[in-house]
Amino acid sequence: MLKALDSQYVLPTYARQDISFVSGNNARLSDDKGREYIDFTSGIGVVSVGHGNPVVSKAICEQISRITHISNLYLIEPQAQCAKKIVEMSGYDMQCFFGNSGAEANEGAIKIARKYGEINGEPKRYKIITLEHSFHGRTITTVKATGQAAMHNYFGPFPDGFAYARNIDEIENLIDDHTVAVMIELVQGEGGVQPLDREKVQALATMLKAKDVLLIVDEVQTGVYRTGEFLASNLYDIQPDIITLAKGLGGGVPIGVVMTSKKDVFSPGDHGSTFGGNYLSTVAANSVLDILESYKVSGELDEIFIYFETQLKMMYEKHADIFTALVGFGMMRGLRVKDADTLGSLINNSRENGLLMLKAGRNTLRFLPPLTITKEEIDEGFKRLGHAIAAL
Ligand SMILES: *Cc1c(COP(=O)(O)O)cnc(C)c1O
Repeated sequence: MLKALDSQYVLPTYARQDISFVSGNNARLSDDKGREYIDFTSGIGVVSVGHGNPVVSKAICEQISRITHISNLYLIEPQAQCAKKIVEMSGYDMQCFFGNSGAEANEGAIKIARKYGEINGEPKRYKIITLEHSFHGRTITTVKATGQAAMHNYFGPFPDGFAYARNIDEIENLIDDHTVAVMIELVQGEGGVQPLDREKVQALATMLKAKDVLLIVDEVQTGVYRTGEFLASNLYDIQPDIITLAKGLGGGVPIGVVMTSKKDVFSPGDHGSTFGGNYLSTVAANSVLDILESYKVSGELDEIFIYFETQLKMMYEKHADIFTALVGFGMMRGLRVKDADTLGSLINNSRENGLLMLKAGRNTLRFLPPLTITKEEIDEGFKRLGHAIAAL
């Protein structure tokens, strides 16, 4: 039995459901018992162009039948093309470094900021301010950057130099002579789909620029059209110094990117990654970017976002006894549920009714469907959510 095999040989870091999926088609999944599901999670914001996407699948297969990996000691054509696409689509004058995950992208961002603080004047600046309820990853440094005390219970001693602001207003007070950067998510994902206030973020960006403190925007979850624009930084109309991407970029193939306008901070030898930016991951990302860019340009992306929002709003208004707020942008959405127990039951009921849903923070029902979800799949998903609510 698969469950027994998993329990015997895989370390128990996840509370896994006893379901094994065997195939998928856009926002639909099938398990090994022949049950069919609507996926409102897209593998936590990863499968941005849907399961089994034929265009991405073809691009990957063609690439790996020739070269999968060579190493960063040589030029890698799809990597350079991918960097060009990301930079052009972002509208920022930046360069990219490729890794394999969100945490690794954030590690790169922290290294760029720390070196910038080291080579730009006295005293040496190294402190990075992040927000409470943030999430920046699971490595020792990014878990320390994460503003959730519960995640710092073990694993110490941690690297020094992180401070946590309770909210965006408090950031300025925490800045001192040693502060080199502020790192934020424009919409906190894991923290509960909590968008930051646009005007406050713009004021923060202006204040940081004046103080020569770098603004790092963690777009691991918000990036690659999740909020409707290519980057949430575009939506907020700010000019960050460093941006990180990962989840939705490779359509399921592991990839992480740190991009920065501080192009001359890193020199050869300062940073690296064995797998980062190889042929497999960058060909996948190029394919995903092409699909989503033309989807955006044609107006289809905006149209489906509006459709999704309309259905979500109807669900929210119909069940005012359960939901207390509708939050987020684009296809990164949440419904605040009146209490955590109801949320747990709702997610279980959804699964039993053939709908995959996520939790965020303490009491948020999180929606992260594939960006290519169809109207028919949206309708079916909300129908099943209705059944899940009825069964509460
Ligand atoms: C998921 C996530 C990360 C971590 O990404 P991994 O690929 O799991 O390392 C970092 N930051 C944000 C905002 C995320 O949502």
